[in-house]
Amino acid sequence: MARPLLADIDLDALRHNYRLARDLAPHSRALAVLKADAYGHGAVACARALEGLAPAFAVACLEEAETLREAGIVTPIMLLEGVFEARELERVEALGLWMVVHSDWQLDALLAHRPARPIPVWLKVDSGMHRLGFPPERVEAVWKRLVTAPAQACDLHLMSHFATADALDPSYFQHQLALLEALAERLGAPTCLANSPATLAWPEAHGAWNRPGVMLYGGDPLEASSEASRRLKPVMTLRSRLIAVRELAAGEPVGYAGRWRAPRPSRIGVVAAGYGDGYDRHAVDGTPVLVEGRRTAIAGKVSMDMLTVDITDIPDAEIGSEVVLWGRAANGEVLPVDEVARYCDTISYTLLTGVLPRVPRRYH
Ligand code: PLP
Repeated sequence: MARPLLADIDLDALRHNYRLARDLAPHSRALAVLKADAYGHGAVACARALEGLAPAFAVACLEEAETLREAGIVTPIMLLEGVFEARELERVEALGLWMVVHSDWQLDALLAHRPARPIPVWLKVDSGMHRLGFPPERVEAVWKRLVTAPAQACDLHLMSHFATADALDPSYFQHQLALLEALAERLGAPTCLANSPATLAWPEAHGAWNRPGVMLYGGDPLEASSEASRRLKPVMTLRSRLIAVRELAAGEPVGYAGRWRAPRPSRIGVVAAGYGDGYDRHAVDGTPVLVEGRRTAIAGKVSMDMLTVDITDIPDAEIGSEVVLWGRAANGEVLPVDEVARYCDTISYTLLTGVLPRVPRRYH
């Protein structure tokens, strides 16, 4: 029997979440963010599932776009970080990609390039994330250079990224948005601003295009979940089984450093999943898991290939019992990846992208 650990990917749930992103912003088009192997879900399979539904995809870099094109994906693809070297422009052109321009050297390289057809360009503004983009006071001049080079660039849009759209405190988000609205109005520019939290929570940030990522995979990025975010469905279920059961006397320890000690006579289930699969080693005792669709918790430090759970209150749990580390159990019970992330002092993004290649993906 194969090692019983799988990432089950529910492509209907992916499409459901995409439609939700689209329906929340009826005057925008939603570009599906498929970077980092579609947040760990498999970019090619997710792109195939969304082709015909999403009018465009976004990835981080040329290599990710090439993987999709090699798999026969024809939907337009945006390179979120643009190119890293001027010579990549030929591939951008050949593969029909959309380019984000965030730096002077990219602008110069693009304007020096002689494409057979102009390249769709998304001019990135640093409105407060202070990561990529032109400072607001330079945007008008850069925009004019692009507008006056129609042989090189077409379909110009303003693009920016929000630092705090997920947060309860709206002040910094509103500062970024006001700045972008003023710029867009002055230039008469269509915009592409909203990530998942802004798509979910800030209709005023919806532009000609939005860029939802984690919500497509069922991750709820909001600090306080909303009616809309509660309609998201989990796409990945990280599913394993019990491969051993231990009976412990009160006071006996479990695992490395004996971090967990049985507070009473206890049954411990050993699960075939560990940090060597991408399950977060920071998971504390008490991190929820589902055993046979019932909630219980991690007991003891996560090992490389195994983790241990307290099954004292699930007397029928035995070797072979289903364990869901996040996602949907066979009985329909859901354990949100965001909830697990909180116990690991992280966010759903890192858990989902962190599932390692050793874990087979199964699509349905
Ligand atoms: N746009 C850009 C530029 C990003 O870097 C990301 C993700 O990090 C996204 C959109 C999607 O963000 P989210 O997954 O929060 O929707």
